[in-house]
Amino acid sequence: MISSISEITQLWDRALKKIEERLGDKLLFDSFFSGSYIYEIKGDTIVVAVNTTLGAVMIKSRYYDIVSEAIYELTESNFKLDFVLESDIQSNKQISTSAGKQYPYFQDAVINQSLTFENFVVGDFNREASQAALMIASKPGMMFNPLFIYSNSGLGKTHLLHAIGNYVQKVSKPGAKVLYIQAMEFIDEYVKYVRGEKDSESLKDYVSSYDVLLFDDVQLLAEKVRTEEMFFSIFENMSNHGKQIVITSDRQPSELSGLEERLVTRFSRGLTVKINEPDKNTCVEILRKKITANGLDLSRFDDAVLVFFADKYSTNLRELEGALNRLIFYTINMKHIDYVTLDDAVEAVGSISGSKTIATELNETKIINVVADYYNLVPSQLTGKIRTGQIALARHIAMYLIRNKLDVSLKKIGVIFGGKDHTTVMSAITKVDKELKTDEDLKTAVAELEKRLKL
Ligand code: ADP
Ligand code: MG
Repeated sequence: MISSISEITQLWDRALKKIEERLGDKLLFDSFFSGSYIYEIKGDTIVVAVNTTLGAVMIKSRYYDIVSEAIYELTESNFKLDFVLESDIQSNKQISTSAGKQYPYFQDAVINQSLTFENFVVGDFNREASQAALMIASKPGMMFNPLFIYSNSGLGKTHLLHAIGNYVQKVSKPGAKVLYIQAMEFIDEYVKYVRGEKDSESLKDYVSSYDVLLFDDVQLLAEKVRTEEMFFSIFENMSNHGKQIVITSDRQPSELSGLEERLVTRFSRGLTVKINEPDKNTCVEILRKKITANGLDLSRFDDAVLVFFADKYSTNLRELEGALNRLIFYTINMKHIDYVTLDDAVEAVGSISGSKTIATELNETKIINVVADYYNLVPSQLTGKIRTGQIALARHIAMYLIRNKLDVSLKKIGVIFGGKDHTTVMSAITKVDKELKTDEDLKTAVAELEKRLKL
């Protein structure tokens, strides 16, 4: 059965080769078939999009048999053929998406082009995960399903998911549909879907139409029974159709308490790999990569600087990268230092984060970082202006924790969060306070955050 977009693309590519051979006229072939593609397969009809009305008419009247023979040979089925104008499809699409208040799912879902296998440094700590990721990226749906990757925060899970997505789309199956989503986004979309704020197409059909699903931080589905059910049925549907699923989590399947047993069982059916903590040499290598990726010459940094950073931040590569960015900002952008020595680095770390003991001392920045990390956001999203569900929730919790744990004034909290009025801050904190009394999920989240902040 032909099901995935990539199989359809392959089918048409192969059909085109046969058609070209049989037409025996390259000019004619190019003129009528260039840019053509299978737009959809509806029952027993293959609908092909072509570039002009004349092309559609000509193909239907004169080349129908050639095309239908080619398809028959490749599929051994008698498909009917229909030819439509590409520009008609485009305008239809525009009409249907702009109509009404409803909007499509996962509007912000993108694969980050800069997170690739090329710039993913491999060491003993992540070798197995990186090999498994590369293997399934080169043969999606055909090796282990799902691939389940787990590790502590900041060790490269999200990076690997994007690397898989990029590799599938650029190398192994160009044209394949790949969806990267975070568990939190999935929860948000599910809620909107249930409330009827979405297109009539079901969330399940939408996600299942993809060839590859990259699902980040599955542990956040815990205790969300109905969202889990939806996820389960998508999971079943996709894996039954041989579609690749890759899942990440902060713990291994057997420790995912709060998640349905049948989901955990399914997770364990594929391959589970762990990313450990990196050794110092690998951290130094990662720093080198990031420095050159920033367009800077390695010769501007004393080796001791890299070793110092590697030592300090080897348990979390996100923190390592953050610290390096601050170092670059302070020494190169602010102080215009040509050659960064260990003294400069120590000074930079001290002057930016206050003191050397800051990593263990609680302050506003730490709370914002920890909350952002928990919700898979970057700190600037928390202090920024976007008000979508999960960002707003994370922001409110951060305000709540800062107020309660540090006793910072409402006015100052407003300033930290991008110049908000103190009454806005007050109402956010009151809301969290109130919801904590009834909302179990929120309680769990806050308890986990307090644990991470070691309160
Ligand atoms: P996680 O999802 O496990 O919390 P991320 O994938 O977000 O971690 O990684 C945190 C940061 O560290 C990202 O900027 C990522 O690009 C970088 N990073 C992680 N692992 C590697 C690696 N092996 N090589 C290069 N950069 C890495
Ligand atoms: Mg992540």
